[in-house]
Amino acid sequence: MFFSEVIGQETIKRSLIKSVKNNRVSHAQLFVGAEGSGSLAMAIAFAQYISCEDKREGDSCGKCPSCVKYMALAHPDLHFIFPVATNKEVPKNPRSDLFMKQWRTAVKDNPYMSLGQWHRYLGIENKQAIINVEDCNEIIKKLSLKTFESEYKVMIIWKAERLFHSAAPKLLKILEEPPPKTLFLLTTENSEQIIQTILSRTQIVRFKKLDYESLEAALSSKYNLEGDKLNYVVKTSVGNYTEALRLIDHSIIKEFNFIEFQKWMRMCFRKDVIKMMEWIDEIAKIGRERQKSFIEHALQMVRECLMINYGVGQLVVLTVEERKFANNFSPFVNQNNCIAMTEALNKAYFNIERNANIRILLLDLSILISEMLKKR
Ligand SMILES: [Zn+2]
Repeated sequence: MFFSEVIGQETIKRSLIKSVKNNRVSHAQLFVGAEGSGSLAMAIAFAQYISCEDKREGDSCGKCPSCVKYMALAHPDLHFIFPVATNKEVPKNPRSDLFMKQWRTAVKDNPYMSLGQWHRYLGIENKQAIINVEDCNEIIKKLSLKTFESEYKVMIIWKAERLFHSAAPKLLKILEEPPPKTLFLLTTENSEQIIQTILSRTQIVRFKKLDYESLEAALSSKYNLEGDKLNYVVKTSVGNYTEALRLIDHSIIKEFNFIEFQKWMRMCFRKDVIKMMEWIDEIAKIGRERQKSFIEHALQMVRECLMINYGVGQLVVLTVEERKFANNFSPFVNQNNCIAMTEALNKAYFNIERNANIRILLLDLSILISEMLKKR
């Protein structure tokens, strides 16, 4: 990861670079920043920079053997500790090392991910991931080894506030007597949840929320956003890149649902089975969560159409495009079919959740809706 890939936070970048130039790198630093401010991204970029063998003005080179391994998050002197919990693959004694593959994928995909997103990566939505005492034992083991290739061994601890209380004394001991040329970079969203003894042994670097200009530049270059949409995401996410990505995901999915719903209803209306089969193949690919969200959207559209029919259209919350479609579609949703249609969609949602065969389910549902649309 390059400094240039870290959004905004220019003052922090400059001061970290300066500390390396002046040979005044503090061996234990705590990056404190709210969600979406980029503390993890910064820690990785800093570690890559410090280990780079051919540092450029303001960034690492990206070409030396160290940078190449860093960019794959696979440098032998780069270690990560992060919250984990047991899951299907690791039924007991979870520790970071056992989840390294998922970690690399998740971080490469989005170094601004939230703890909730990480939970989903691990398939542990209903558990609380923590940093276990086993991890601290691992730290001691790893740091007692000589560095493999770099001058520095770097230990990045993500979400340090999730450190399990029995693990804290061990970490503290290492921070008190660190092996030479070891750099600890701890990141946290909330320094108040970090025990005082750890706070007093680390240099605290406070991250601000991202400024609008940096956020705007990052979003428009990466997601091709512009105009009102860009403005909306920037203003609504108030300096939180993670939230901005959530909003974009949400609006992309919403748009997808609407477009596909229109297609689907037209196919059902024409009873075009061949087109239906092709369409079902596409919907089968998007995964269960997205399929559920699609059905939810269909339910919402049916509800809104009914409200338009009953003359309470002004209550409905639709975009201009959705409203245009709903006005044309609403005559087909009426007292003769609306209950059956809602029931069929609810049943489909229920069965998708229970792993039903999506192709059979959607074909049955499509044929059913075709019949219902004929009931004027
Ligand atoms: Zn380099």
